[in-house]
Amino acid sequence: MKVGVLALQGAFIEHEKTLRGLGAEVKQVRLPADLNDLDGLIIPGGESTTIGKLAVEYGLIEPLRDFARSKPTWGTCAGMIFLAKDIGIDRQPILGVMDITVNRNAFGRQIDSFEVDLGISVLDDRPFHAVFIRAPVVTAVDQNVDVISTLADGRIVAVQEEHLLATAFHPELTDDNRLHQYFLSIITK
Ligand code: GLN
Repeated sequence: MKVGVLALQGAFIEHEKTLRGLGAEVKQVRLPADLNDLDGLIIPGGESTTIGKLAVEYGLIEPLRDFARSKPTWGTCAGMIFLAKDIGIDRQPILGVMDITVNRNAFGRQIDSFEVDLGISVLDDRPFHAVFIRAPVVTAVDQNVDVISTLADGRIVAVQEEHLLATAFHPELTDDNRLHQYFLSIITK
């Protein structure tokens, strides 16, 4: 199994390490041709405006859109923003392939970053220690989207839409590899 990690900007190395630890073959994606032989793709956290701008420059927007429409793709944090169909900002380039509305920087400045234990419905019962860094939240989902995790106040922080996965936090920054394992299981399904 060969998994790509979009390597334009952000926390792609950490995803790469976790995937390799699980036995997957990993390839950094910077050009459209890099997508050719991949079974799945992770779009990392970072700065979604920068990722979007570079994706436009490298001619990656359409190829990434086509890829995500047919193959398992997982966006974490900025990657979640990049996958969403609505972020309330017209000029920022996004893929718009997931039927979710996302609010960037939803937690404001006062709690820039925080960590919390989450229940995630597609994993076992053990809590998942989640690191949020200037994180987005999902403010609306269409019927075809499954909410797989919320904060205690009900705000949505992880969703799945068939072969597409999006998490507002950074699972690549902790030792818990259960979400990466789950993503690989979507690929092999
Ligand atoms: N706030 C960032 C953005 O808008 C996302 C932060 C992150 O990926 N950790 O892109």
